[in-house]
Amino acid sequence: MSAVAEAAATISQLRVQVSRLHAHLPAYGLVVWTAGNVSARVPGHDLMVIKPSGVAYDELTPENMVVCDLHGQVVEGEHAPSSDTEAQAYVYRELPDVGGVVHTHSPYAVAWAARGEAIPCVTTMCADEFGGPIPVGPFAVIGDDSIGRGIVETLRGSRSPAVLMQNHGVFTVGPDAKSAVKAAVMCEDVARSVHLARQLGEPIPIEQSAIDHLYDRYQNVYGQR
Ligand SMILES: [Zn+2]
Repeated sequence: MSAVAEAAATISQLRVQVSRLHAHLPAYGLVVWTAGNVSARVPGHDLMVIKPSGVAYDELTPENMVVCDLHGQVVEGEHAPSSDTEAQAYVYRELPDVGGVVHTHSPYAVAWAARGEAIPCVTTMCADEFGGPIPVGPFAVIGDDSIGRGIVETLRGSRSPAVLMQNHGVFTVGPDAKSAVKAAVMCEDVARSVHLARQLGEPIPIEQSAIDHLYDRYQNVYGQR
Protein backbone atom coordinates (compact mmCIF):
# COMPACT_ATOMS: atom_id res chain seq x y z
CA MET A 1 0.00 0.00 0.00
CA SER A 2 1.31 3.49 -0.77
CA ALA A 3 1.89 5.90 2.11
CA VAL A 4 -1.09 8.02 1.02
CA ALA A 5 -3.41 4.99 0.77
CA GLU A 6 -2.17 3.75 4.14
CA ALA A 7 -2.89 7.11 5.79
CA ALA A 8 -6.37 7.15 4.20
CA ALA A 9 -7.13 3.65 5.53
CA THR A 10 -5.97 4.61 9.04
CA ILE A 11 -8.03 7.82 8.95
CA SER A 12 -11.18 6.01 7.88
CA GLN A 13 -10.77 3.49 10.75
CA LEU A 14 -10.22 6.34 13.21
CA ARG A 15 -13.31 8.18 11.94
CA VAL A 16 -15.38 5.11 12.85
CA GLN A 17 -13.63 4.60 16.19
CA VAL A 18 -13.77 8.24 17.32
CA SER A 19 -17.41 8.74 16.31
CA ARG A 20 -18.43 5.54 18.19
CA LEU A 21 -16.43 6.39 21.32
CA HIS A 22 -18.44 9.61 21.68
CA ALA A 23 -21.49 7.50 22.67
CA HIS A 24 -19.81 6.73 26.02
CA LEU A 25 -19.84 10.40 27.05
CA PRO A 26 -23.64 10.87 27.34
CA ALA A 27 -24.07 7.21 28.38
CA TYR A 28 -21.91 7.78 31.48
CA GLY A 29 -23.44 11.19 32.21
CA LEU A 30 -20.23 13.07 31.40
CA VAL A 31 -21.73 15.63 28.97
CA VAL A 32 -24.86 17.63 28.20
CA TRP A 33 -26.06 19.02 24.85
CA THR A 34 -23.03 19.27 22.51
CA ALA A 35 -20.31 19.89 25.13
CA GLY A 36 -17.32 17.59 25.33
CA ASN A 37 -15.31 15.79 22.69
CA VAL A 38 -13.01 12.90 21.82
CA SER A 39 -10.03 13.03 19.49
CA ALA A 40 -7.41 10.59 18.24
CA ARG A 41 -3.96 11.06 16.78
CA VAL A 42 -3.39 9.58 13.31
CA PRO A 43 -0.28 7.49 14.14
CA GLY A 44 2.74 8.35 12.03
CA HIS A 45 1.18 11.55 10.66
CA ASP A 46 0.87 15.04 12.11
CA LEU A 47 -2.90 14.71 12.03
CA MET A 48 -5.81 14.17 14.40
CA VAL A 49 -9.47 13.12 14.06
CA ILE A 50 -11.90 15.11 16.23
CA LYS A 51 -15.59 15.81 16.79
CA PRO A 52 -17.24 18.53 14.70
CA SER A 53 -18.25 21.65 16.65
CA GLY A 54 -21.83 21.97 17.87
CA VAL A 55 -23.18 18.70 16.39
CA ALA A 56 -25.52 16.67 18.63
CA TYR A 57 -24.17 13.38 20.00
CA ASP A 58 -26.84 11.30 18.25
CA GLU A 59 -25.93 12.90 14.93
CA LEU A 60 -22.23 12.03 15.06
CA THR A 61 -21.11 9.73 12.23
CA PRO A 62 -17.73 8.61 10.87
CA GLU A 63 -18.33 10.96 7.92
CA ASN A 64 -18.83 14.14 9.95
CA MET A 65 -15.68 13.70 12.07
CA VAL A 66 -13.06 16.34 11.16
CA VAL A 67 -9.41 15.69 10.31
CA CYS A 68 -7.04 18.49 11.40
CA ASP A 69 -3.32 19.01 11.43
CA LEU A 70 -1.54 19.41 14.76
CA HIS A 71 -2.00 23.19 14.60
CA GLY A 72 -5.78 22.81 14.44
CA GLN A 73 -6.18 23.54 10.73
CA VAL A 74 -8.85 21.46 8.95
CA VAL A 75 -7.37 19.02 6.45
CA GLU A 76 -10.51 17.01 5.65
CA GLY A 77 -14.15 17.48 6.66
CA GLU A 78 -17.33 19.42 5.96
CA HIS A 79 -17.73 20.83 9.47
CA ALA A 80 -15.77 23.19 11.70
CA PRO A 81 -13.83 21.17 14.28
CA SER A 82 -14.52 21.26 18.04
CA SER A 83 -13.64 24.54 19.72
CA ASP A 84 -11.14 22.54 21.83
CA THR A 85 -9.14 21.49 18.75
CA GLU A 86 -6.28 23.93 19.38
CA ALA A 87 -5.85 22.76 22.97
CA GLN A 88 -5.86 19.12 21.91
CA ALA A 89 -3.49 19.79 19.00
CA TYR A 90 -1.08 21.39 21.46
CA VAL A 91 -1.22 18.25 23.62
CA TYR A 92 -0.43 16.01 20.61
CA ARG A 93 2.48 18.28 19.60
CA GLU A 94 4.04 18.33 23.05
CA LEU A 95 3.31 14.79 24.30
CA PRO A 96 4.30 12.30 21.56
CA ASP A 97 3.08 9.24 23.53
CA VAL A 98 -0.48 10.59 23.67
CA GLY A 99 -2.74 8.95 21.08
CA GLY A 100 -6.12 10.14 22.35
CA VAL A 101 -7.57 13.14 24.21
CA VAL A 102 -11.01 13.60 25.79
CA HIS A 103 -12.63 16.72 27.20
CA THR A 104 -15.77 16.86 29.35
CA HIS A 105 -17.49 19.10 31.88
CA SER A 106 -18.57 16.06 33.94
CA PRO A 107 -20.36 17.49 36.99
CA TYR A 108 -18.58 16.00 40.01
CA ALA A 109 -15.15 16.61 38.48
CA VAL A 110 -16.16 20.20 37.67
CA ALA A 111 -17.25 20.65 41.30
CA TRP A 112 -13.60 20.01 42.27
CA ALA A 113 -12.25 22.11 39.37
CA ALA A 114 -14.51 25.05 40.28
CA ARG A 115 -12.86 25.15 43.72
CA GLY A 116 -9.39 24.54 42.27
CA GLU A 117 -8.93 21.51 44.49
CA ALA A 118 -7.07 18.36 43.38
CA ILE A 119 -8.95 15.12 44.11
CA PRO A 120 -6.98 13.33 46.84
CA CYS A 121 -6.01 9.71 46.25
CA VAL A 122 -8.18 8.07 48.91
CA THR A 123 -9.60 5.08 46.98
CA THR A 124 -7.81 2.11 45.47
CA MET A 125 -9.49 2.87 42.16
CA CYS A 126 -7.89 6.31 42.14
CA ALA A 127 -4.49 4.74 42.90
CA ASP A 128 -5.00 2.13 40.15
CA GLU A 129 -6.00 4.48 37.37
CA PHE A 130 -4.38 7.79 38.34
CA GLY A 131 -1.39 6.76 40.49
CA GLY A 132 -2.03 9.60 42.95
CA PRO A 133 -4.23 12.68 43.25
CA ILE A 134 -6.01 14.00 40.16
CA PRO A 135 -4.27 17.36 39.70
CA VAL A 136 -5.66 20.81 38.95
CA GLY A 137 -4.38 22.87 36.02
CA PRO A 138 -4.47 26.66 35.73
CA PHE A 139 -7.44 28.84 34.84
CA ALA A 140 -7.24 29.47 31.09
CA VAL A 141 -9.65 30.67 28.43
CA ILE A 142 -10.06 29.71 24.77
CA GLY A 143 -8.26 32.04 22.39
CA ASP A 144 -4.58 31.15 22.52
CA ASP A 145 -2.59 28.07 23.53
CA SER A 146 -2.98 28.65 27.28
CA ILE A 147 -5.39 25.71 27.77
CA GLY A 148 -3.04 23.35 25.92
CA ARG A 149 -0.03 24.66 27.86
CA GLY A 150 -1.85 24.28 31.16
CA ILE A 151 -2.84 20.68 30.36
CA VAL A 152 0.68 19.69 29.28
CA GLU A 153 2.48 21.38 32.18
CA THR A 154 0.16 19.78 34.72
CA LEU A 155 0.25 16.28 33.22
CA ARG A 156 4.06 16.33 32.91
CA GLY A 157 4.31 16.70 36.67
CA SER A 158 1.91 13.83 37.44
CA ARG A 159 1.21 10.15 36.75
CA SER A 160 -2.46 11.02 36.27
CA PRO A 161 -3.92 10.78 32.75
CA ALA A 162 -6.54 13.36 33.86
CA VAL A 163 -6.26 17.05 34.71
CA LEU A 164 -8.99 19.26 36.17
CA MET A 165 -8.64 22.64 34.49
CA GLN A 166 -9.60 25.21 37.10
CA ASN A 167 -13.13 26.64 36.78
CA HIS A 168 -13.59 24.60 33.60
CA GLY A 169 -13.52 20.82 33.25
CA VAL A 170 -11.62 17.63 32.63
CA PHE A 171 -9.04 16.78 29.98
CA THR A 172 -7.81 13.19 29.83
CA VAL A 173 -5.13 11.55 27.70
CA GLY A 174 -4.19 7.99 26.81
CA PRO A 175 -2.15 5.91 24.40
CA ASP A 176 -5.31 5.77 22.28
CA ALA A 177 -8.73 7.43 22.27
CA LYS A 178 -10.43 4.52 24.08
CA SER A 179 -8.01 4.79 27.03
CA ALA A 180 -8.63 8.53 27.24
CA VAL A 181 -12.41 7.88 27.32
CA LYS A 182 -11.89 5.31 30.09
CA ALA A 183 -9.87 7.84 32.10
CA ALA A 184 -12.69 10.40 31.71
CA VAL A 185 -15.25 7.87 32.98
CA MET A 186 -13.01 6.86 35.91
CA CYS A 187 -12.22 10.49 36.76
CA GLU A 188 -15.90 11.32 37.18
CA ASP A 189 -16.48 8.18 39.26
CA VAL A 190 -13.56 9.01 41.59
CA ALA A 191 -14.70 12.65 41.81
CA ARG A 192 -18.16 11.48 42.88
CA SER A 193 -16.96 8.89 45.41
CA VAL A 194 -14.53 11.27 47.09
CA HIS A 195 -17.14 14.04 47.12
CA LEU A 196 -19.59 11.68 48.85
CA ALA A 197 -16.93 10.58 51.34
CA ARG A 198 -16.24 14.23 52.17
CA GLN A 199 -19.90 14.76 53.06
CA LEU A 200 -19.56 12.10 55.77
CA GLY A 201 -16.23 13.15 57.23
CA GLU A 202 -12.56 13.21 56.37
CA PRO A 203 -11.43 10.45 53.96
CA ILE A 204 -8.52 8.28 55.14
CA PRO A 205 -5.33 8.83 53.11
CA ILE A 206 -3.62 5.84 51.45
CA GLU A 207 0.12 5.49 52.14
CA GLN A 208 2.34 6.41 49.20
CA SER A 209 3.94 2.93 49.10
CA ALA A 210 0.48 1.36 48.77
CA ILE A 211 -0.49 3.84 46.04
CA ASP A 212 2.72 2.94 44.16
CA HIS A 213 2.03 -0.79 44.54
CA LEU A 214 -1.59 -0.50 43.38
CA TYR A 215 -0.65 1.68 40.42
CA ASP A 216 2.13 -0.65 39.31
CA ARG A 217 -0.05 -3.76 39.61
CA TYR A 218 -3.01 -2.23 37.77
CA GLN A 219 -0.92 -0.69 34.99
CA ASN A 220 1.35 -3.69 34.43
CA VAL A 221 -0.28 -6.90 35.70
CA TYR A 222 -4.10 -6.50 35.86
CA GLY A 223 -6.45 -7.76 33.16
CA GLN A 224 -6.21 -10.23 30.29
CA ARG A 225 -2.67 -10.67 29.07
ZN1 LIG B 1 -14.72 22.90 27.96
